[in-house]
Amino acid sequence: MSHDSLHYLDIDTRDPAEYLAALNVLRWEKLQKQIRYVWGNEDYYRKRFLEAGVQSPDDIRTLDDFRRLPAFIDKARHRDSQDASLERYGHPLGLHLTCAPEKAIHLAATSGTTGTPTFYVFSRKDQEITYKVLGRMFQVAGIRPGDTTFHAFGLCLWLAGVTYVQALEAYGARPVALGAEAGVPKILRYIELTHPRVLFATPSMVNQLIERAPGEIGKPASALGIEIIYCTGEPGGSQPVFRKRVREAFGAQVFDATGGAWHNGTITCDSENAHGMHYMAEDYCFRYDLIDPVSKQPLELADGLEGEAIHTGLEYEASPAFRNATGDILRLHVGECPGCGHFGVRMEIIGRADDMLAIKGVKVYPAAIQKVAHSFLPKLSGELRIRLNAPPPGVTPPLRLAVEAGEGTPESEWSTIADALEQRVREILSFRPVVTVLPFGSLPRSGAKTKLIEIVA
Ligand SMILES: [Zn+2]
Repeated sequence: MSHDSLHYLDIDTRDPAEYLAALNVLRWEKLQKQIRYVWGNEDYYRKRFLEAGVQSPDDIRTLDDFRRLPAFIDKARHRDSQDASLERYGHPLGLHLTCAPEKAIHLAATSGTTGTPTFYVFSRKDQEITYKVLGRMFQVAGIRPGDTTFHAFGLCLWLAGVTYVQALEAYGARPVALGAEAGVPKILRYIELTHPRVLFATPSMVNQLIERAPGEIGKPASALGIEIIYCTGEPGGSQPVFRKRVREAFGAQVFDATGGAWHNGTITCDSENAHGMHYMAEDYCFRYDLIDPVSKQPLELADGLEGEAIHTGLEYEASPAFRNATGDILRLHVGECPGCGHFGVRMEIIGRADDMLAIKGVKVYPAAIQKVAHSFLPKLSGELRIRLNAPPPGVTPPLRLAVEAGEGTPESEWSTIADALEQRVREILSFRPVVTVLPFGSLPRSGAKTKLIEIVA
């Protein structure tokens, strides 16, 4: 990896506070224009300003004024806005569409696993900036113009689908856009046929390719010649166990990325353990305008801060994210990356705002509990359930945690492992759970998005 590829900003300081202050200047410069731009949208955004007591764009005089505004949109309101524009104008681009409908030339969508999909709308300019941001991420991953890249993400409107394929073409790396829908056997055969240097796939697809390569094509994944694996779409790509497995099985470097929506973009470096994701779009969006998940008040941005992320595109044209409540709880790292040494902002998604548990005043996210449990692999299988007596967030202690023994962990060790896990959770998350170890295979597997919380009477 070329470290130079992480330098896309002209901020010359290695002091975290100074660095953030310089970013705030950059943000405010662009926001003044963007505030006026979305104010022009009478159907949706101007209404939100007026509700917040803002009578004119001139009322917002500083970045702090902007950060004190409430969230203007979230997934549910986005969906309502689409329904309303469909009824009123016959298109689903949303009442928050801020440009003429004919300027909206590209669409992507969320996977729509829960309810109607929400659309990401791109004007030509939005698309060009998206290619630029994704191009920076491709460069960090060591992808070179001229490379053959194999695209095994889903192609059905997903952001990592056609949007990525087009961005790869704009970058000059030739995508073989077969897509996840083709299925594992065909993907393996086409990889053999096209000999890509880079594979784009979700962690679960990567795992399946490793497991099924010998049976389907008579050779291990390591014989495919893939040098770079670029993951997104699921949380697993940053996990040390996954990264180690991929390095061993493919002999490839692993990168974990998020982004594509409203100019967002983050990617890990290729270090052994991912140390959060490097933020690659400081000049185009404010993705970590962090607020307190309960009081919804802005928090002062600093190294180590955790909070709920509000996302605003700084110059997005079509149906922009403007004070969009993402529901993500992020942890910021500002400073030198322990993996690659680059100085800048990194972030980790540590949970969802609606998943938060409050245990005697301590805020905890299920994903954080899962992360601690995963440090016990392979003694534990990694499957777990948080068992609550009543719906979250309030939890009456002790929190009960059911985990599964690893395949081959003798029952005689279970109680020692339970004690150790209780102790580790207490050290890291400041509460002590009651851990029960269950036999391997006893918790149902239902795919990547298994709910970690169970309400038991
Ligand atoms: Zn790094």
